[in-house]
Amino acid sequence: MADFERELNDELSIIRKQQLHRELRQIDSPQGPRIQIEGREFLNFSSNDYLGLANHPALKEAAIRALARYGTGAGASRLICGSLAPFHELEEALAAFKRREAALTFSTGYATALAAICSLLGKDDVIVLDRLVHASIVDGARLSGARLQVFPHNDLDALDRVLRKTQARTPGSRGSAANRPPRVLIATESVFSMDGDRAPLRQLVELKDKYGAWLMVDEAHATGILGTAGRGLAEAEGVQGQIEIQMGTLGKAVGASGGFICGSKRLIELLINRARSFIFSTAPVPAAAAAATAGLRVIQSETGDDLRTCLWDRIAQLHSILGRWAIQPQANGAAGTPLPHPLAAQRSGTSQAASAILPLLIGEESAALQIASTLRERGVYVPAIRYPTVAHGEARLRFTVTAAHGKDDLREFQQRVV
Ligand SMILES: *Cc1c(COP(=O)(O)O)cnc(C)c1O
Repeated sequence: MADFERELNDELSIIRKQQLHRELRQIDSPQGPRIQIEGREFLNFSSNDYLGLANHPALKEAAIRALARYGTGAGASRLICGSLAPFHELEEALAAFKRREAALTFSTGYATALAAICSLLGKDDVIVLDRLVHASIVDGARLSGARLQVFPHNDLDALDRVLRKTQARTPGSRGSAANRPPRVLIATESVFSMDGDRAPLRQLVELKDKYGAWLMVDEAHATGILGTAGRGLAEAEGVQGQIEIQMGTLGKAVGASGGFICGSKRLIELLINRARSFIFSTAPVPAAAAAATAGLRVIQSETGDDLRTCLWDRIAQLHSILGRWAIQPQANGAAGTPLPHPLAAQRSGTSQAASAILPLLIGEESAALQIASTLRERGVYVPAIRYPTVAHGEARLRFTVTAAHGKDDLREFQQRVV
């Protein structure tokens, strides 16, 4: 036991020394533009609850009704003890929302990525990832055993080269162990979770068609926000019907929890039969599914349109504040002090924000931590995102804004940091 504790302690010291230590902060309020931590109120710019649905009365009512009718627990995996009605209602709503034949839900978005990739690929196949894809996709790729290829972020020429080489190396004439030609799957996000920029979906569809590859798009940060009625970037770009595997989470703009895949009926049937994170896991709380169905209803309603209009207003407001006032760490290593400073270091460099994610690139892990801590002293809660969420030396403050933020919340933010 003593050795065990000593080893863990050594490892934790290394994490601390690298400025990569993480800790939980207890919050005593619901998610919203203002949160309570240890009795103190903070302006919150850390949540992915983009439309403010996580604490919306329609979702809470739906959850309470489902709780009263179906209880708290699902009992077992849906294939073992029967599949509760709220999951089927949610999946029908998702398929209609995304305009695909069918949908399947999972306990989390993370479990969804593992499910989809591992159900479709094995060691004789190839998976091609954008360098910035989410950890759930990277982990799914590794777990599948497929050969992993990475292309630089949104670099279509590089992707073309990777796909061409892949074809040369896997002529498809010889059957694999699975007795079929090797598969090639490209996986990317439509809005990137830590950079907030978008993928060129139309060109990606052209490329995957050119090489006979399949495409998986994770719309975690676009669902509810982009496209007609919040259907996502694929809908906005008119390629919804051309993406084999559409993924999303119910834990962000949808305001509940869980993840989903939308696609053809055959894809969903295969997932039910192959996806280990679906088969060997107890179904989620049925009330979560009911809340998500209610979330989808709000998203597609007039209220949803109003919330999106409000969200894009707030995004523009925050983008303009951050553009005028960046925050520099002090050279002496003391807590960072906000200073007026043009955002020269911003990777995207565009005049308009592409999403509700507005990262302020800082670089050094320690500097990002200092600035986040200075902001907390001023009553502003923004996470310092560090390795392994982003690459070493690319630490950043990841600001997110929601439709629940008022104009005044942002004015107050400006006053507190400037
Ligand atoms: C959050 C996120 C996930 C995981 O979804 P959860 O429901 O939180 O498990 C997957 N992909 C991306 C891009 C994400 O941002």
